[in-house]
Amino acid sequence: MSDKVRVLVTGAGGFIGSHLVTDLKKRGYWVRGVDIKLPEFQSSDADEFLLLDLRFWENCLTATKGIGEVYALAADMGGMGFISAHHAQILYNNSLIDLHTLEASRTNGVKRYLYTSSACIYPEYLQEETNVTPLKEEDAYPAMPQDAYGWEKLISERLCMHYAEDYGFETRTVRFHNIFGENGTWQGGREKAPAALCRKVATAKLSGRNEIDIWGDGDQTRSFCYISDCIEGIYRLMRSDHREPINLGQDRMVSINELADIIADIAGIEIVKKHVEGPQGVRGRNSDNSRLRDVLGWEPSVSLEEGLALTYRWIEEQVREAGEFETAATASANKAAKRV
Ligand code: NAD
Repeated sequence: MSDKVRVLVTGAGGFIGSHLVTDLKKRGYWVRGVDIKLPEFQSSDADEFLLLDLRFWENCLTATKGIGEVYALAADMGGMGFISAHHAQILYNNSLIDLHTLEASRTNGVKRYLYTSSACIYPEYLQEETNVTPLKEEDAYPAMPQDAYGWEKLISERLCMHYAEDYGFETRTVRFHNIFGENGTWQGGREKAPAALCRKVATAKLSGRNEIDIWGDGDQTRSFCYISDCIEGIYRLMRSDHREPINLGQDRMVSINELADIIADIAGIEIVKKHVEGPQGVRGRNSDNSRLRDVLGWEPSVSLEEGLALTYRWIEEQVREAGEFETAATASANKAAKRV
């Protein structure tokens, strides 16, 4: 598209940000990526990549200088295990990143700003059953997100809204519902459920031991959206004139147990699910995509099975390369050796 517009992607070293950079380059934009780290699994396609900590005002001024449009994705975040155990860190870091990136963008005359919020902003009291009613955008209030992560996202949504009202600053706000795909974190504590389950199933397959841990009873429900749909939705929203927050996700709800079974099918193995204690988040969550369809005339179309097949293949490769699994044969040989 336009090679005159210079865009900034913050969080360009992360999962969604690195895919977005590639997509924007294909569309003909000049892209600056900013992050505190380089992408972990591939080199960035950005024209320029700056390693900057966006909690700091001066760095935000540098990042947004000469930029026409900003896709603000930088955040200190992870899956439920991380989010439920780092409230203070998340609230502090992400508030600074969001306040400074937005104000620096306005100061530097940025024309459009897309903020990446989350389904975690929705109130806990609407998500207490597994068979939950899909969440509409207006369900956000009265507010009662479960975690600091959701509260911070909600405040930053409001900040974008007030910048639009008070300064005429063009903001877009997207609420993601569980995005997954290749080149995302798959180990180390920040990984989300689809990646964690792909890793566990791949480890089971490669080791020959078929038991996998599931946090809680596994009946908790979510919807999961493949990365290519997420990127298409982000771009369409940025180009639209819609200023209110909007859901971006799939509206097919599955339980974590079902998700594990689909992945095991893809891997071609039988698994035994061992239910263990662990953070589960809300009991049920699904996206109502009515507004998405109305506003963008579009909705995600990649099926869960298609997306997981691609993701699983990539994660199995990572697990194999990392070599951090022990085959059942090796394990029993090691055990026997210890007995001698
Ligand atoms: P990610 O963790 O892979 O990417 C976030 C990036 O932000 C990371 O590369 C990280 O290094 C960077 N970052 C963190 N602190 C920074 C700082 N101080 N300065 C500069 N960069 C910093 O996460 P993601 O899945 O790509 O998510 C992108 C955005 O979408 C985030 O804002 C996230 O909250 C939001 N989101 C994601 C999901 C999802 O399912 N992946 C769901 C809801 C919302």
